[in-house]
This record gives sequence, structure tokens and C-alpha cells, in this order.
Amino acid sequence: MNLTDYNEIRALLSRHGFRFSKSLGQNFLTAAWVPERIAEEAGLDEQTGVLEVGPGVGCLTEQLSMRAGKVLAVELDKALRPVLAETLAGRENVEILFGDVLKQDLPALVREKLPGLRPVICANLPYNVTSPLLTAFLEAGCFETVTVMIQREVARRICARAGTADYGAFGLFVQWHCETELLFDVPPACFVPQPKVTSSVIRLTRRAAPPYPVSDEQLLFRVIRAAFNQRRKTLVNALCAGIGGMTKDLAEQVLQNCGFDPKIRGEAVELGGFATITDEIHRNLFSKL
Ligand code: SAM
Repeated sequence: MNLTDYNEIRALLSRHGFRFSKSLGQNFLTAAWVPERIAEEAGLDEQTGVLEVGPGVGCLTEQLSMRAGKVLAVELDKALRPVLAETLAGRENVEILFGDVLKQDLPALVREKLPGLRPVICANLPYNVTSPLLTAFLEAGCFETVTVMIQREVARRICARAGTADYGAFGLFVQWHCETELLFDVPPACFVPQPKVTSSVIRLTRRAAPPYPVSDEQLLFRVIRAAFNQRRKTLVNALCAGIGGMTKDLAEQVLQNCGFDPKIRGEAVELGGFATITDEIHRNLFSKL
């Protein structure tokens, strides 16, 4: 069976009485080159254990199972149980778990279901929960790479560099944990039903260590969030509004000590600059408490 053929998918799903759910982000692929290329980009071999989120009818699962040691696919929609039993029958290295991936203890799941394998993530994600999913994958700390299709707009934000309109707090959070690559775009015509937006595939590769030394990682993310909550303000004003105890004089002093113009905005500061500013704030404000 061709799991990306539009007519075959429609016939399969109607035979099982399946209805697409918008709230579960169900847009299934109907172009064979897309799951093939996503699976290729995930860098799989016999030693890899793949966690896939949302197999749908299993077109990407099939491609992953041809390349990896094992695929663990977590699907929230139980209506897909009989569909997947049919489409993935005979694929010995695929295990399907029905449940919400956001409610799983991911490191425990990897230990239990993918033992002895190099854990990676590869998926066409449900777009409505992209940020919580990516946050959970990064915080789990056990996946070497995350190769996923998401909304192009979000992909651009994740990979954005300083000084661009897409640059922001979420991208910096991801870049702190991973190297990011924007791989290729996929048009709406490659899905059923067609989404309203273009999609992009990205690859995140976990860093062995943080990219810059920083004394207080939590404070770093508070500083970054403060900077972008008040995007139109100067960084001095944004820090005063977002960091308790910060005064205008101190914020100006901090920026000057770090070699920045006190009129700079957060969107012009690179990740390394935020780490330096965080250390200076920590020295001046918190180490004295
Ligand atoms: N992999 C298929 C494909 O590429 O054609 C389907 C991808 S579709 C964009 C997203 C899939 O994620 C759907 O099958 C949906 O039911 C499932 N899903 C949505 N939320 C989920 C969650 N929280 N946990 C697990 N699966 C979820």
C-alpha cells in the first residue's frame, strides 16, 4: 500500500470511519518525497532508536523503520489504532504507543523502549503544540538530534540570528541547547487536508555543553525573556521592567561594562552577549543579596 497516495489514504480512512481532527493538528502527507527526505535527513542507522510523535497513517514511520534500529511512535488519536495495525503490519521494529506525548516521562520512555540505542526524534509535528513539544524534547536532554517538520514561521524563529525580525526568546532557548539548521520547505499541497501555511523541516543537534559559560542559566532566560517582552524598548528599559531590583543606572552600567551601547535593543544582542550581560547582572545584583 502506498501510504502517501491521496486516493489510497482517503479509501483507507473512510473504511475505518476516521475523521480528521483539526485540534490534533492532523494534516497527513500525500507526497512520497517528503517522508523519504525527512527520514534521510534524520541520519539514522541500525544503532538509532527513533521517537516519532503522531504517526498518522504511518507514512513517515515506514520510512524511519527502513533506516533505524527501532521506531517508537506515540499517537494520541486512538481512532488510528486499527488503521496503523493495518498499514504497519509486519514492521517488526515499530512499536506504537497510544497516549499524549506531552504527558510522558521522555527519559524513562527512552530507557524502557529504546534501550541500547542512540535516541533521536523524527516527526511531522502537530503544529498547535510545536513549542511545548520542542521544549519537552530539549528539557528531556536525552535526544541527540530532533529532525521535525513544523510551521515555516516557527522554523524561521528557531533558526533566526540577531538583528532579524524573527529573532526572539524561543529561538534563543533552542539555540542555547542545540545547533539549529533550516533544511527545506514543504508546500501546503503536499498534505491532506491542506494546512493554511507553508511547512519547513529543521534539524536540531544537541550541544555537548552550553555554547557559552554562564553563572546562572535561569537568570539568562529571565534576561532574554525580559529583552523580548519589551521588544520595542531599549534593553535598559526592558531589563528595568523585567528584572526585579534593576534600576536604570545599574542597567546602563551593566551594558557599558559588557561593552554595549546603553541604547542597544535586545534584538541586536547575540546569544553570547546575553550570557555576558547575565553574568554582569548576577555579579551586580544577585551575588550581593
Ligand atoms: N506523521 C503523519 C504524517 O506525516 O502524515 C501525521 C502527522 S500529523 C501533522 C500530527 C499527528 O500527531 C496526528 O496523527 C495527531 O493525531 C498526532 N498528535 C497530535 N497531538 C499529539 C500528542 N499530544 N501526542 C501524540 N500524538 C499527537
